[in-house]
Amino acid sequence: MKEKSVPLKPIDMHVHIVGNGSGGTGCWLRVTGWHRPLAALMLRHVGLPADAMSRDLDQLFIARLLEQVRSSSLGAVVILAQDEVHDDQGRVLKDVGSFYVPNDYVLSLAQKYPEFLPAVSIHPARPDALEELDRCLARGAVMMKCLPNCQNINCNDRRFTRFWERMAEASLPLLAHTGGEHTLPVVRPDYADPRTLTLPLECGVTTIAAHSATKSGLFDPEYFNVFAEMTQRFPNLYGDTSAFNVPMRGRHVLECLCEPLLSRLVHGSDYPVPVNGHFAWGSGFVSWRDFRRCQRNNNILERDYQLKLAMGFPPEHFTRISGLLRRV
Ligand SMILES: [Zn+2]
Repeated sequence: MKEKSVPLKPIDMHVHIVGNGSGGTGCWLRVTGWHRPLAALMLRHVGLPADAMSRDLDQLFIARLLEQVRSSSLGAVVILAQDEVHDDQGRVLKDVGSFYVPNDYVLSLAQKYPEFLPAVSIHPARPDALEELDRCLARGAVMMKCLPNCQNINCNDRRFTRFWERMAEASLPLLAHTGGEHTLPVVRPDYADPRTLTLPLECGVTTIAAHSATKSGLFDPEYFNVFAEMTQRFPNLYGDTSAFNVPMRGRHVLECLCEPLLSRLVHGSDYPVPVNGHFAWGSGFVSWRDFRRCQRNNNILERDYQLKLAMGFPPEHFTRISGLLRRV
């Protein structure tokens, strides 16, 4: 494998890959009900045709993403695979998840494009979880992504101890969704609680709580303070600022800009989730001038980066992840 040095330019560590399998990638997408207009809106927001879902989405999505990375201030983005929903015995729950992105697809994309760093996704209850982990490590995985509340992963299940220990040995960090979720179907709302990450943390896994456990819906429980308190107890716990430019999630920006929390946060956008500065401007986190300047930029990876700079996030916020990703 070619040696890949992680550049010290800003890195966006939370970028989703989406596909419909049109390019033989193995991806699938199952969007129903009110999620359909939402998905079309997201695609239009990133600059894709609204009917891209029924066209060659695999190719269109990657071409547009590459174009945006290359014309941004970013040096690289971490692209995320998405495993299927499994039950506690590790059997695939058909018809439950809404999209799937195979590990081999993100691993191959990263081999092809130096701008992409691959994060794989493995449900630890899978009978082949450890073999799949070793296989992905051999192919250059830099992170592991999961959504406990959407994929039905009880991270504190003692049966997963060996899996977390293997990740810790390999210095492979875990990015786990925390807080509410409204773009994907949720199967276990209680797993949105960052306390669900206790076992991997105790096993020594560098763990990043996606969205820093902020709530996304008005009626979601608030876990941000639980997350902030846990960073005091676990030196290996971090949070990301992904989707902070959707309303609600960005509510805690002022606390995030203060130490000791500030040095525990890493930059991510949650692409292709929409990025808009209205909430940040309305809350007084960015000026009218900065808001207008950022909104004029149609590259939403760059818009998210510029909005966070305008909020006051320092340069280290955007490069800290390079010290946490597994070196390949
Ligand atoms: Zn995400």
